[in-house]
Amino acid sequence: MHLRFELSAWRPNLPPLRPCGNPDCLQHRPLPRALAWQWDGRRLCSPECFAAAAEADCARLLPALAPAPAPRHRMPLGLLMVEQGFLAAEDLRRALAAQQQAGAGRIGYWLTRLGFASESQITAALARQWGCSVFPLAETACEPAVSRLLPRALQVGFGLVPAHFAAARRTLFVACRDGIVRSALYAMERMLGLTLEPCFADASAVDARLAALSGVRDAAGQAGEALPNEASFDSPFSAAELAACARGYAVKLRLRSARAVTCSEYLWVRCAGVETHFDLVFHRPHRRMAAFGPGLP
Ligand SMILES: [Zn+2]
Repeated sequence: MHLRFELSAWRPNLPPLRPCGNPDCLQHRPLPRALAWQWDGRRLCSPECFAAAAEADCARLLPALAPAPAPRHRMPLGLLMVEQGFLAAEDLRRALAAQQQAGAGRIGYWLTRLGFASESQITAALARQWGCSVFPLAETACEPAVSRLLPRALQVGFGLVPAHFAAARRTLFVACRDGIVRSALYAMERMLGLTLEPCFADASAVDARLAALSGVRDAAGQAGEALPNEASFDSPFSAAELAACARGYAVKLRLRSARAVTCSEYLWVRCAGVETHFDLVFHRPHRRMAAFGPGLP
């Protein structure tokens, strides 16, 4: 008894032993320190308690799933270009008319399609509109490990790709195509434990990266890069279904630590091990009205 007291006194910095983090767990004894099941930092005694913690967390997060509202207080792209002398007012009027007639496509797309502006001029204007820099994505290679920091489903959903990781600053530069959903970037920052710095790149360069991620062959017939560590779901789901799914992957892949965040209409669960991770992305279908809707300049 005396010896045990002295041993514990020699290791004062270890966290105290706590019971399972699931309040409904019947196992009240402190968990061994080596136990690996965790949900959002809470240590849990079993896959069952892992699923219970996942379900409680997802039930809290699911009501928050909603498309990002359109950004306010931002001068429309076309007007900005006219005001700064990059575009004639008459050209803007014609591009807006074409956009309205088609009922789809962003104004930048129509300005380039009709030959009123180049892609790089649109990218530069978007960067000015959002107060960000332009990233030379087409001329820069990105390591696969950096490309995979974010799930493909979120990269496609938000029209952005990881562009560069500055390790010393723990900052990930993400190249956006159409605009920035700040709330989604904050959620990604929380999940990754990194600072995300948005910038803009030519839409064609972002699309080429996304196509490569999707495993689509490009014009030269080169095979794209698939993301093997990800599953995405595009149907209605309950917190219980979601927790069961997370538990299934965590058990199968021996990735016993997980957490979830919401990025607009997506719920992102990352199951992680020491060196690997697996992403589950759940998308709640909705009528298109997000930040980058068709009629938005
Ligand atoms: Zn438990």
